[in-house]
Amino acid sequence: MQFARVVDVYEKIEATTKRLEMTELLVGLLRDTPRDDLDKVVYLTRGRVYPDYAGIELGLAEKMVMRVLAHATGLDDARITGLWKEKGDLGLVAQEAISARRQKPLESTPLTVSKVYQHLDAIARESGEGSQERKVRLLSELLGNATPREAKYIVRMVIGQMRLGVADMTIVDALAATFATRADRGRVERAYNVSSDLGEVARVLASKGIDGLNEIHLKLFRPIRAMLAERLETLEEIFERMGKAALEYKYDGLRVQAHISPKKIELFSRHLENITSQFPEIVEGLRNAVRGRAVIMEGEAVPVDPNTGEFLPFQEVSRRRGRKTDVERMSKEFPVTLFAFDCLLRGDEDLTSRPYTERRRALEAVIKPTDGIRHSTVRVTDDVKQAEAFFDEALQAGCEGLMAKALDSTYDAGARGYKWIKFKREYSAALSDTIDLVIVGAFAGRGKRAGSYGALLMAAYDDQDDLFRTTCKLGTGFDDETLFALPEKLKAAKRDRKPARVDSKLEPDVWFEPTTVLEVRGAELTVSPVHTAARGAIRPGAGLAIRFPRFTGRWRDDKGSEDATTTRELLEMYRQQLKQTKKGTSALA
Ligand code: ATP
Repeated sequence: MQFARVVDVYEKIEATTKRLEMTELLVGLLRDTPRDDLDKVVYLTRGRVYPDYAGIELGLAEKMVMRVLAHATGLDDARITGLWKEKGDLGLVAQEAISARRQKPLESTPLTVSKVYQHLDAIARESGEGSQERKVRLLSELLGNATPREAKYIVRMVIGQMRLGVADMTIVDALAATFATRADRGRVERAYNVSSDLGEVARVLASKGIDGLNEIHLKLFRPIRAMLAERLETLEEIFERMGKAALEYKYDGLRVQAHISPKKIELFSRHLENITSQFPEIVEGLRNAVRGRAVIMEGEAVPVDPNTGEFLPFQEVSRRRGRKTDVERMSKEFPVTLFAFDCLLRGDEDLTSRPYTERRRALEAVIKPTDGIRHSTVRVTDDVKQAEAFFDEALQAGCEGLMAKALDSTYDAGARGYKWIKFKREYSAALSDTIDLVIVGAFAGRGKRAGSYGALLMAAYDDQDDLFRTTCKLGTGFDDETLFALPEKLKAAKRDRKPARVDSKLEPDVWFEPTTVLEVRGAELTVSPVHTAARGAIRPGAGLAIRFPRFTGRWRDDKGSEDATTTRELLEMYRQQLKQTKKGTSALA
């Protein structure tokens, strides 16, 4: 297939702000794509050559791409840098530079999808000494054969920022509509949740049809998308829903999915990044603790003070990025303990469709607790008094609260539902719980903040409509250093106009593709005509706003934008707050 055909569709997708239209354009593209190119088109549309968990990056920094552009077009570095400053999008720089290039190729054959993919794949695979030079040469060759429009998207693929506004779930919709019916969408989504690989789902759909998806199973070293929890405000409500339930301590750390074979251990974050190298002590611990030839288990990693044995703030773990020597030092200074809470694969057995009780038994059978690897503390009960006492114990042990799990519940990959319910301490006070919001825009700073942003426009995630709806402007809680680093930090997500998946009545000075999540604390929720989160749920035309929001200092880099607090959760919190206020127990700060 000609790459130009794909580029046609990308341009149309970029021009629309309507999600339905986007999906239809994608369906048109997928229908026209020959079977062999299908997975490639899916990966490229995401700005990747492999699924995310493979951790294979093209590995060319922006500076390097600019060098390639100069080399491929004969324009000088200053001109390219000038274009970069003017446009702020390397894709547009490439488009302009290629159309202004000095030496036009004498003859060039039109690019095909497979040629583009092969080249990008080769770039990704280059490693070791001299690899940067070889990457540069490969990209230069590819751009030499590209039209200006093609160059724009090739460069965006190389830096992993397609700017199409196409979310994974939009691709799921499009795949279902192309190869099955709307009614089969759930099956396509499930296959994606289990495999975390849209290319694989596309391959199977194209070659075997919708029933082929039944063959997509949990596989060692391919992470599964995490099962998520709903929240409820009282233990009574939890027992009403679940009856007798397993209550587990809810640890406040980092979720880790471990894939274990006798030869190899790999760890994935909740965001499906490979984080094995960041936690040498977990790898070592699992090597000693796990019995069995193939195991996939999940747990929460919590930093522990080796002197006192007490839990440390989660921030101590999130700092573990960067150089190997730093990681080693930190793993000694603040080692983490992994509290195992689920077992998804044991030998050849996929346990995800088995009830909780059975998975828990498997977990206890495969893990022999050690200092660094323990089982989550659990109690099965339907008695509120016992549950309250257990909750107090959890808090005393340094946990956030409890996680209630239905005894017969299966592990539903990628789904948030009432099979798991979180119950945290903070619910007794209005909005003392933190909220994770997505940055969708910013207002220019004035006075002391000139040159940075005065406030960010924040949104919650509407998981029913797959949209980001605004709920506050956020301007406090940033220290100067963080504040002035914001424009650079958010540069890649910056857009000239409102991204398709953002719903806002406000017009900020700049828009951002919803990618970055941060943690906010607020005093209370109010009904507001200005914001669009949960619009109409309480009063027609009005949404929910967070009053006095403040950045807690915690970036939720472990969360994707779809993992932010949902508008439904905000609504639930609002209702809860109302109940509290009526009872006169409101603790509005
Ligand atoms: P979420 O993961 O639900 O989107 P979040 O990251 O803000 O939200 P919480 O709302 O605090 O986290 O609760 C869910 C998380 O709690 C899980 O993703 C997991 O990381 C963590 N957790 C801690 N202890 C347990 C446990 N015993 N069972 C399951 N999850 C646990």
